[in-house]
Amino acid sequence: MNPSANIAIIGAGYVGLTTAAALAYLGNRVTCVDIDEEKVRKLQQGDPLIYEPGLQDLMREAGDRLRFTTSYSDAVPEADIVFIAVGTPLGDDGYANLEYLHQAATSVGRHLNGKFTLIVNKSTVPIGCGNWVDSIVRESYAETHGERANGCFAVASNPEFLKEGTALDDTFYPDRIVIGVERERDAEILARLYRPILDQEFEAPAFLPRPAQFGSVPLVTTGIASAELIKYTANAFLAVKISFINQVGTLAEKVGADVTELARGIGLDRRIGGRFLQAGIGWGGSCFGKDTAALAATGREYACDLSIVDAAREANCRQLERVIEKLLDRLKILKGRRIGLLGLSFKPDTDDMRDSPAFAIARRLTGRGAKVIAYDPVAICRSRRQIEQAGIKVAETPEDVFVESD
Ligand code: NAD
Repeated sequence: MNPSANIAIIGAGYVGLTTAAALAYLGNRVTCVDIDEEKVRKLQQGDPLIYEPGLQDLMREAGDRLRFTTSYSDAVPEADIVFIAVGTPLGDDGYANLEYLHQAATSVGRHLNGKFTLIVNKSTVPIGCGNWVDSIVRESYAETHGERANGCFAVASNPEFLKEGTALDDTFYPDRIVIGVERERDAEILARLYRPILDQEFEAPAFLPRPAQFGSVPLVTTGIASAELIKYTANAFLAVKISFINQVGTLAEKVGADVTELARGIGLDRRIGGRFLQAGIGWGGSCFGKDTAALAATGREYACDLSIVDAAREANCRQLERVIEKLLDRLKILKGRRIGLLGLSFKPDTDDMRDSPAFAIARRLTGRGAKVIAYDPVAICRSRRQIEQAGIKVAETPEDVFVESD
């Protein structure tokens, strides 16, 4: 196993918390900083607050190597590596809103103690953010310390590819790890940290067994801009793939073909691959919408035609409407109808409601005068108020949905 490192992780959400628990499990000393006091209090009690299979067990296994705090001074000065994993939600202009990243970088700069620290962007950030974070940290360091930072930190990029619902599997058994660096030294620091995962030389947690025949993990080392662009491109490609099968699915329906047979028929072609070819009500979640928007905005900024990405976004909006149209075809009138809905989060095995197509559909239905009753085994625990405020009745069991709907 690699010699353990002192790590600070800024932001204890889906990405920060998963990364923190995994790195602590692997033997590092990890301190997670979050500005949300209530969240930190719960995390200190061992409650992950989010539904992610295995996460609570992993936090328990990490023991006192994993700590939570609201105070940067408890985490950053001693850290060898600082990961920034704060949210970068959609801003007004199509770009990511970098307000949290700005705050985090400023606070990190203030708390560096002069020994070398590698600052790693794990948040999904627009191209060029490596430079931007560097300049913010530099300024904030100089303001606080009254002297220039003089090589006491460097910025790297390490985009995250985990999927909610399988976040821990994706962290311990990833398809690849991407790091974007400016100097060989920074690549070595990150390669050393990730060595147990790259070489699969850690003892797998009992509840997260290593998949059969899982071998070593490729490390993709690039410049910072490439790493940043890889993340956006990966999400855009996956979104395009889903939008593509959804659009073709409409044609399949019209000609009397079956889209699941179609997906299997093309997906077995290894050049295409069967994943992300499930036709459905459209993609959602906290990433695809904002990341495709940001990539499209960057394309416009650089006068690059990324119309495929725009088309995937438009097809996705259209897909939601198709659900309403299908209901109208069947029911003719939506006003006063009681419509049942199974599943409210943006996909199975997560309680994340951000940009959930199911929730969007439910709201469109209530907007048209229908009464919606919905059940979700995990999303209702955390988001009951949000769901009820949208005029949706929460069912306590799946059976209630059937009993109460037209
Ligand atoms: P999240 O909203 O779940 O968590 C972000 C956390 O950061 C929150 O707990 C918030 O309180 C905290 N925070 C905000 N400002 C802070 C500050 N100044 N200091 C300390 N903490 C602060 O977000 P997430 O889903 O974990 O996403 C984080 C980043 O990772 C985003 O850029 C996202 O695009 C990217 N990402 C997310 C996923 C995913 O599936 N959720 C996957 C890959 C990449």
